[in-house]
Parts: sequence; structure tokens; C-alpha cells
Amino acid sequence: MQVLKGAEVSAKIREQVQAILAEPGVKVPRLAIVRVGERPDDLSYERGALKKMEAFGLLAQVYAFPADISDQDFKAAFQDINEDPEVTGILLLRPLPGQICERDIEKMISPEKDLDGISPINIAKVFAGDESGFAPCTAEAVVEVLKANEIPIAGKRVTIVGRSMVVGKPLSMLMLKEHATVTVCHTRTKDLEGACRNAEILVAAAGRAKMLDARFVSEGAVVVDVGINVDENGKLCGDVDFDSILETASMATPVPGGVGTVTTAVLAKHLAEAAKRKSEKH
Ligand code: NAP
Repeated sequence: MQVLKGAEVSAKIREQVQAILAEPGVKVPRLAIVRVGERPDDLSYERGALKKMEAFGLLAQVYAFPADISDQDFKAAFQDINEDPEVTGILLLRPLPGQICERDIEKMISPEKDLDGISPINIAKVFAGDESGFAPCTAEAVVEVLKANEIPIAGKRVTIVGRSMVVGKPLSMLMLKEHATVTVCHTRTKDLEGACRNAEILVAAAGRAKMLDARFVSEGAVVVDVGINVDENGKLCGDVDFDSILETASMATPVPGGVGTVTTAVLAKHLAEAAKRKSEKH
């Protein structure tokens, strides 16, 4: 089985980012990472994003707020960041604490700065197949992994396990745009094993450590593992039992070192694209 390494995909995206930044009139963009509280998942994503922006020659700044900030105070602060002309793009770490209405923030964020596709306008564009918006970075990262490795998508049977707004749902639309035949599975799916075995490309985005083993993978399938979980020994692992599919899958992404690193590269690409669009407006 061939291991699809995220670093190689990320390096290709870096070249695209450099090309955008080299265009006349494009200013080095600044990312605002907005975090409320100190959830370990958020801190880990934040570290990864900061590292990636630095490696790609992009600017980034963290705006951290206490976990108990009021809805009103957070919205006022968020509005300031949203309106700051020095901020090219925003990454909001979610979920937000319960006292803050996330829906309101999704509506507030300027679609041009919404690099992770949370605004209703960007979501609508993903569903319409309109590339002028930003898709959620993780969903797009899955497509980037396949394209960078020259894995054909058109006409393929793709099964996605997970239907969240962050991964499964937008990814199903991105895959349809690439002309795949898409099946989306979730906790009420009957015969999950059959739906997965039917796939030529299987995408795992359920958030359940090692739940998909060789029984779920057909001979020669390509497996993309989005899951980031901790196993019984406290080690990072995906939704796929990687060792068990070595003989069955033709290619698979590892965890760590797979989709995660591509996600932050896509974030960087979106930031560069936001800078380019801004320069074209002036
Ligand atoms: P989520 O919001 O919890 O959604 C999980 C989805 O998987 C739901 O649709 C759920 O079905 C489905 N599911 C859960 N258990 C299942 C089971 N046993 N059988 C079938 N379907 C099942 O999670 P998420 O935010 O989409 O994230 C999914 C995973 O990706 C997590 O491990 C997360 O850490 C990881 N992630 C990685 C990145 C990255 O950069 N690589 C970025 C974001 C997320 P229902 O809808 O029926 O509940």
C-alpha cells in the first residue's frame, strides 16, 4: 500500500501560494486566529496553523479570549477584527462556549475573510459549485490530497463516513463537483460496512478511533482518513485502523501526517487567495 503523505501535498500547495504572492499588487496577507478559552484541540490546531503560516511566509496573529467572555463582549471584539483592514482572513476556532451564539458569528463574518467556509454565503457557494467563495479547509484538503496524487475522482464511487458541516456535507458537494458518485454515511446508516466496501475512494470523518478496519475497505480502494483521535494508549490516531488495511487498500493517508497538515496548507492558500481578491478590488 502506498502511503499518501500530507507533507508532499502541502509542498505543492506552498508553490501555489508563492505564485499568488508573487503577483503584482498582492500584499503579504495577515491571518487572524480567533480563540475563546484554551481547549487542547484548539491550541493544537492553532500551533499547526501558526507554524504553517510562518513556513509559507504569511503573517498570523492570535486573538485569544477568556472562556467565560459574554456573548455581547465577544461579538463586539469579533466585529473589530472583522472590520480591521489589516486582517486579510479569519480562522475562528470552534466550537465556541455555549454562551456565545455561533450562528450569529457565522452570519457576521465577512465572506471575503471567512477562510474556513463558515458563513452562509460561502456554504451556499460550495453547494452551488461556485468557486468564488471559500470551502471548509478540511473538506477541500481531502480533494487536494487526491488531486496532488493524481487519483482520478470523476466517475468513482466515493463513500464519506460523517455528515458534519465541517467535513462530510461540504465534501460531498466538492466530490459531486468533481463528478464522483457520492454516498454519505452517518450513525443511522444501515449496513455501514457494505456502503464502505462499495467505495473506490473511502473518506473517514466520523471522529471514532480506528472504527474502520479491513472489513470496511474493498481491495484496491483509496482511503483518506480525516479523523483525529486518541487511542487507548494516548497516541494520536485516525478513524481507520491503518495497520489492518495495509494489505487491502491501494493507498491511504496516515494519522498524523496526512490530511491535518494539508488542512492548514489549504488555509494558507485561502489566505493568499483572499489577499489576491483584495488587491484586484483596489
Ligand atoms: P462531528 O461533527 O462529530 O461529526 C461526526 C460525523 O460522523 C457525524 O455525522 C456522525 O453521524 C458520524 N459518525 C460518528 N460515529 C459514527 C459511526 N459509528 N458510524 C457512522 N457514522 C458516524 O465531527 P467532525 O467535526 O466532522 O470531525 C470528524 C473527525 O475529523 C474528528 O476526528 C475530527 O477531529 C477530525 N477533523 C480533522 C480535521 C483535520 O484537519 N484533519 C479537521 C476537522 C475535523 P451523525 O450525524 O449521525 O451523528
